[in-house]
Amino acid sequence: MTVPKPTAGTRWRCTLCGNLTRFDVTRSSRVVEYVHLDLAGEPQIEEQEVLSESIESVRCRWCDAADQVELVDRPGAQV
Ligand SMILES: [Zn+2]
Repeated sequence: MTVPKPTAGTRWRCTLCGNLTRFDVTRSSRVVEYVHLDLAGEPQIEEQEVLSESIESVRCRWCDAADQVELVDRPGAQV
C-alpha cells in the first residue's frame, strides 16, 4: 500500500485509533547538502536541497499500526 501524502489542506489520521499527531515516518530521499566545516573539522549543514523524496511507511505511535493512515481535512482548511 502506498501512503497518501498530506497536503496544505489535509493531514494524516490513523484509521484504527484516530491518532492525528504522532507517527514514525520512514522516508527515503536524495538530498544535496551544503556542508560547511569549521577549522576544527566540525561539519554543519547550512543548506539542503531535496531532489526527490518518497515516503516508505508511516507507523502510528499510539497503536503501532503500519500504513493505516487516511487523509482528513485540517481544521479550518479551505477546501
Ligand atoms: Zn493508531
